[in-house]
Amino acid sequence: MEEADEKGVEGKVRDLQKAIGVDLGGTNLKTATVTKSGDPENLNYTATEAAKGPKHVIEKIIKSINEQLQRSGVKEIKGVGIGSAGQVDSRTGIVYDPPNLPHWQKEDLRKVIEEEFDLPAFVDNDANVAALAESRFGAGRDSEYLMLVTLGTGVGAGLIFHQEIFHGASGIAGEFGHFTLNYDGPLCQCGQKGCVERYVGARWIIERARTTIPDYPDSKVNQLIKESGNKLTPEHIAQLAHEGDVLSIQVMKEVGTFLGAALGSVVNLLNLDLIIIGGGISNAGSVLFDPIKKAILEHSMSIPGSMVRIRKAKLGEHAGVIGAGQLVFKGLATPP
Ligand SMILES: [Zn+2]
Repeated sequence: MEEADEKGVEGKVRDLQKAIGVDLGGTNLKTATVTKSGDPENLNYTATEAAKGPKHVIEKIIKSINEQLQRSGVKEIKGVGIGSAGQVDSRTGIVYDPPNLPHWQKEDLRKVIEEEFDLPAFVDNDANVAALAESRFGAGRDSEYLMLVTLGTGVGAGLIFHQEIFHGASGIAGEFGHFTLNYDGPLCQCGQKGCVERYVGARWIIERARTTIPDYPDSKVNQLIKESGNKLTPEHIAQLAHEGDVLSIQVMKEVGTFLGAALGSVVNLLNLDLIIIGGGISNAGSVLFDPIKKAILEHSMSIPGSMVRIRKAKLGEHAGVIGAGQLVFKGLATPP
């Protein structure tokens, strides 16, 4: 009886532990105080202002962490976890050359944060931490071998095997966006040709919709471009596809087919039991998911292709901060 009471108290103490999660993207900088059970508190979104360079962005990160510390009470905070765009060596906490953060070459983000706050800091790739969050609290709780694909300006992916991030030899594993779909295809921002991102990244989706307009003069996309002052986004197209707009359905079908073809190869390679699709256009629903499933079946071997499940991400835009916070609990529990 006494032992059970002690465990109960210990359990409550553990739940009170919190970490600050930072989601550093090319457009938005998100921070929250995250509990061990994955609840984000004090969510704060601000513009990254990436064009102003790394010094400015790092100052903004420090300011956001300070705000969290003030709002949450310093005592309960066990550390800071950061999910960053770009190539991140999670062992050293160094961020290398993120394509959506101009002028960043090699930033020792972990060292900067640890010195500033005297708290343990952990840094990993943004898609990896989102995948970790989905695995622990979202769409992937019943999976042993999952990949989360995040569709946005860039196309990222995180691999979670047995509830742990798969990093590869240098911490860079999961760069699905730069998986070659066509070795002689159009040039990608990374310098290679025919990458997945060059076909399903935000820029390409918009370009494809715009060039298809003459074939569909009655499409709502036309009207939307006029109403929005020419600001068409992939989310607009996903929404219009969901509402039945023929042009938008066609674009989503192409995106789904490209994605599914590449995922078919991934499924053959890794024999995943689950692929989670996240990012704004995942709201398109079956107009996107049906072509993905069809193309996976067409481009994979029968056993891995038929057993893999495809789901929409569950935690939405909060996945990044939730997963970043979990880096702290995970890091502190693992001996160095
Ligand atoms: Zn590329």
